[in-house]
Amino acid sequence: MPTFETFPFTKRFAAELPELSLEWQAEESPDPRLLLLNDALAAELGLDPTALRGVKGLGLLTGTLVPLGATPVAQAYAGHQFGGYSPRLGDGRALLIGELTDRQGRLHDLHLKGSGRTPFSRGGDGRATVGPMVREFVVSEAMHALGVPTTRALAVVATGRRVSRETVLPGAVLARVASSHLRVGSFQYAASSGDVDLVRRLADHAIERHHPAAASAQHPYRALLDAVVTAQARLVAQWMLVGFVHGVMNTDNMTISGETIDYGPCAFMEAFDPDAVYSSIDVGGRYAYGNQPVVAEWNLARFAETLLPLLAEDQDQAVTVAQASLNTFAGSYSATYSAGLRAKLGLPTTLQHSVSDELGAELLHLVRVNHVDWTSGFRALGAVARGDTRPERGPSLDPATMRDWLTRWRRLGPDPALMDRTNPVYIPRNHLVEEALDAATAGDLEPVQRLVEVVQHPFEERPGLERYAGPAPEDFGSYTTYC
Ligand code: AMP
Ligand code: MG
Ligand code: MG
Repeated sequence: MPTFETFPFTKRFAAELPELSLEWQAEESPDPRLLLLNDALAAELGLDPTALRGVKGLGLLTGTLVPLGATPVAQAYAGHQFGGYSPRLGDGRALLIGELTDRQGRLHDLHLKGSGRTPFSRGGDGRATVGPMVREFVVSEAMHALGVPTTRALAVVATGRRVSRETVLPGAVLARVASSHLRVGSFQYAASSGDVDLVRRLADHAIERHHPAAASAQHPYRALLDAVVTAQARLVAQWMLVGFVHGVMNTDNMTISGETIDYGPCAFMEAFDPDAVYSSIDVGGRYAYGNQPVVAEWNLARFAETLLPLLAEDQDQAVTVAQASLNTFAGSYSATYSAGLRAKLGLPTTLQHSVSDELGAELLHLVRVNHVDWTSGFRALGAVARGDTRPERGPSLDPATMRDWLTRWRRLGPDPALMDRTNPVYIPRNHLVEEALDAATAGDLEPVQRLVEVVQHPFEERPGLERYAGPAPEDFGSYTTYC
């Protein structure tokens, strides 16, 4: 196995897109200490987990040991943040170390967050703290286990530096793996430079890495747009099915690959509520649970605008082409959402969506008015399908108001095994995440390690884990997240 100095990283992004890359290096960590390591992911990538725990491994994970051939860069990107455009955001506290090829031959970015100031830092200190980096580790692992496309966390390393926030907090670096860090904001940055050739090279890079079938389409850039619209429509539908609220769907936080990225003020909804908002900065509710599909479509329109010069010679025609592509969002979204909802109801794929959609909508209404917990409510329904009458956790599906609905649903022959494969028992519950983050910040890693283990197997109910399976206790109150 190669050592970390000789590990074969590539610098494709830096070499192909120098206009979007600023060569940079991470700051030293005074006293690096490994807090969390994703052994399974390390193994998939061909990185020896034991060696990652050593001094050189920590160097790789904090950016101070740069492998031969790698050229760490801060990536330039722009973005609409809460609807307002910033022409220059970029990696203000992050670096792309380079790309590495996993055992299946797939290319991944290795990226660090919290690695120090860069020319994109503006007023920021370039740092990250233990709590939020641990949150990203836990929630991205949970999403992966739930089958939702996502970037993944390889490690969290405490830097030994005190970082000044509202209080003084321990600093950390997150090592993150993604199929790439290309964002809608990357295209916005390229497009606003006015250099059409740069947009074309960026689009070609995106096609090669994420949507290779587009290369052989009659119109590759139209096919790229179609592919990104489809990937994001499917992604957001999956968020909705698991009750995930991203919290900060700015265009710089939306990938071209269709992976979830940037777990800042995110949360899992408990009682079903389309207006659910957790982020302290989302005062207008722009990124509320129920708005996510509309926002994704809005962001994709910003993406389409960047591609206009590539879509057709005639710009009126380009707009027509872009509009047609954006119009496919609704259909792709509904197809994924309806199929997912049908599976959550345990109903067979032979059943028409119109039937399961109607039944699902009625259930959602009942769930909403009764404040039923999204996750445990669906799981409990699986138990009902099996004839199991154990009391469920949290506010329950009231049998009296449900009777008519249950009768019609049962007639369709719900499959409890399908429901158990589809409806998780364990998600990263907000109160448990907070508890684990607080403990990790105070130096106790046991709660977060345990939580990671639990959410890595979300569908398999295990004895002794009852406290992981239900909504927050009443006294937890309403939940607010901070980035
Ligand atoms: P985010 O909200 O994490 O998606 O970040 C939005 C922008 O703010 C990106 O350009 C980040 O690089 C930048 N940023 C966030 N936190 C910091 C920080 N502590 N120092 C410098 N830049 C930051
Ligand atoms: Mg971001
Ligand atoms: Mg961020």
